[in-house]
Amino acid sequence: MPELPEVESVRRQLEPLLVGRRLVRVEIADPRLVRPYEPAEVAAELEGERVAAVERRGKYLVVRFESGRVLLIHLRMTGSLRVASPGEQRDDPHRRAVVTLDNGSDVTYRDVRRFGTWLLLEPREDEPYLAARVGDEPLDRLFTAARLGERLDGRRTSLKAALLDQRTIAGLGNIYVDEALWRARLNPLRAASGLDVAELRRLHRGVRAALEHGLARQGSTLRDYRLPDGSAGAMQDEFRVYGRGGEPCDRCGTPIGKTRIGGRGTWYCPACQPLPEAQTVRSSSSLPSRSRRQSSL
Ligand SMILES: [Zn+2]
Repeated sequence: MPELPEVESVRRQLEPLLVGRRLVRVEIADPRLVRPYEPAEVAAELEGERVAAVERRGKYLVVRFESGRVLLIHLRMTGSLRVASPGEQRDDPHRRAVVTLDNGSDVTYRDVRRFGTWLLLEPREDEPYLAARVGDEPLDRLFTAARLGERLDGRRTSLKAALLDQRTIAGLGNIYVDEALWRARLNPLRAASGLDVAELRRLHRGVRAALEHGLARQGSTLRDYRLPDGSAGAMQDEFRVYGRGGEPCDRCGTPIGKTRIGGRGTWYCPACQPLPEAQTVRSSSSLPSRSRRQSSL
């Protein structure tokens, strides 16, 4: 699933291609993309709009039009946007929408699993919509270790679950949470609240470093993620823990462990990221058994 580095990499490629362009023709082939609205109605509303800016909030692409309206695009599991010459990819069975720009090029939206969404909002509707769903931007200058501590304080879940919650920090998903926790040398099953100042600083640095690394590689392509020019990301070759169960830890050589937290595959180094027994979260039913946890220490 595209996370902050993937969505931001898409945004950076789309921005120069879209800003200043008018949407001449819009075709939405999949009703799931815009429900509960009618595809033909949304398409008609979009036609004629001129793009003023392409921004990102968390995992949302925010396409701002000169009219003040905003198209929020969420790629979810397998959505991707491609800029192509007209007619290209016409026989792609997973193509869900096509936007023709006033310079003749097509922006196509492809989605195998069909969980992605396009939501057209009227002027000023975007701010309250996003504020209710998306927390602080972790790469923002104003996002400090102290602020991270405030966001985690009082949370009664594991660190992993708290960091996956988009209202804690925007844009993190399964991959970059595992990568950030490895960098911070914190166990994913640790309680989210009660981190000391040094641990918060490590986590803050770890989150930013993991995301910056992903951005520098234009994201990770595990299956469907592609950049608008059709190229793949390269981060998947440089994961420290994600998907590397049994392989040696880059830092200490211990085999990377794997567990499940909240139904999500979770990778960590049992030696670098030890779990202090007293700080375990016990409230979740999805926690591995005590013996499993101890054997992983
Ligand atoms: Zn290690």
